[in-house]
Amino acid sequence: MKIICVGRNYAKHIEELNNERPKDPVLFIKPDSAVLPDKNPLYLPPIANEFHYEVELVVKINKIGKFISQEFAHRYYDEIGLGIDITARDLQNELKSKGLPWEKAKAFHNSAVVSKHFIDKNRFEDLNNINFYLKKNGKIVQEGNTHQMLWKIDELIAYISKFFMLKKGDLIFTGTPEGVGKMDIDDEFTGFIENKEMFKIRVK
Ligand code: MG
Repeated sequence: MKIICVGRNYAKHIEELNNERPKDPVLFIKPDSAVLPDKNPLYLPPIANEFHYEVELVVKINKIGKFISQEFAHRYYDEIGLGIDITARDLQNELKSKGLPWEKAKAFHNSAVVSKHFIDKNRFEDLNNINFYLKKNGKIVQEGNTHQMLWKIDELIAYISKFFMLKKGDLIFTGTPEGVGKMDIDDEFTGFIENKEMFKIRVK
């Protein structure tokens, strides 16, 4: 299993980090070892000083495929979940400034929070109108809706599968809306899709 993450998929998040709006989706991979085990507290590794949360809608792939056309992309997923793409921001900025790959800042142990449960996609009236949000210590810090995505789920699957063969169980992190910020020890994060709590984690 692998995680394919999409960077810069929400215009306001691109602005808040002063990034350039990309011509094509920005992609990177997290290995299966990045997934935070269920119920574990989140221990941030001693590799950076500043860790950021990025709440993202997560699509679970249900079968193998490559070069999937956008028209048939909907056949490759049944379920939607929620996750946090944890980012070692100071390390990422250092790597970016040197033109180096981001992996060390993005793919480390416990860098992927993934909800235990996923929601059947047929329970949503419109996949391009799903609300999700993240609370930090009980206060909403990020809110997004899939209609704000620069590339929608089916477009992402078509694009990603040109480069990476998708396999059953792979997860696509579809990008974060604005409002990213710091994670500190003792912070508690709860993630919601349409008012359904999807995960709760505490930083240790
Ligand atoms: Mg992200």
